[in-house]
Amino acid sequence: MIDAEEIQRAFAPQAEAYRTYKRRLTICGIGFLGTLLTIGVLEPPLPVAYALGVVAASFWAAGVVVEIRSPALTCPACEHGLDRAVDVYCPQCGQGGVRHDSGLFGRTRCAACRATLVSGKRGRFWKIGYCTFCGALLTSTGV
Ligand SMILES: [Zn+2]
Ligand SMILES: [Zn+2]
Repeated sequence: MIDAEEIQRAFAPQAEAYRTYKRRLTICGIGFLGTLLTIGVLEPPLPVAYALGVVAASFWAAGVVVEIRSPALTCPACEHGLDRAVDVYCPQCGQGGVRHDSGLFGRTRCAACRATLVSGKRGRFWKIGYCTFCGALLTSTGV
């Protein structure tokens, strides 16, 4: 059994790698949209527009590469993958009161902090502070 501090220490490099990945993804997204917007707003002469198009495509390609190489988040205590699903413990407040409502508009919700724990096509919309499987505190700042 490893203690709480050790879990956080073991998780820190993962959290850091994940934050770097998110930062890179944001930069690629802004670069891509920014370049497209520049073309749309300024309507530059054709050669310039082509060049900017290449720049936009490069940002997009870089974003794809960053996404493919996205780091996995794994709980050091129970070794479950953390990035996709929510189990019994709320990843945001660490309380074991997550309710999975079924049905068409069923939502996964935390009874304690009332966070809605949904993940969509663009990934999850909650922050990970605690392991959802064993309830261990991973990082107090969340990733
Ligand atoms: Zn765990
Ligand atoms: Zn909660």
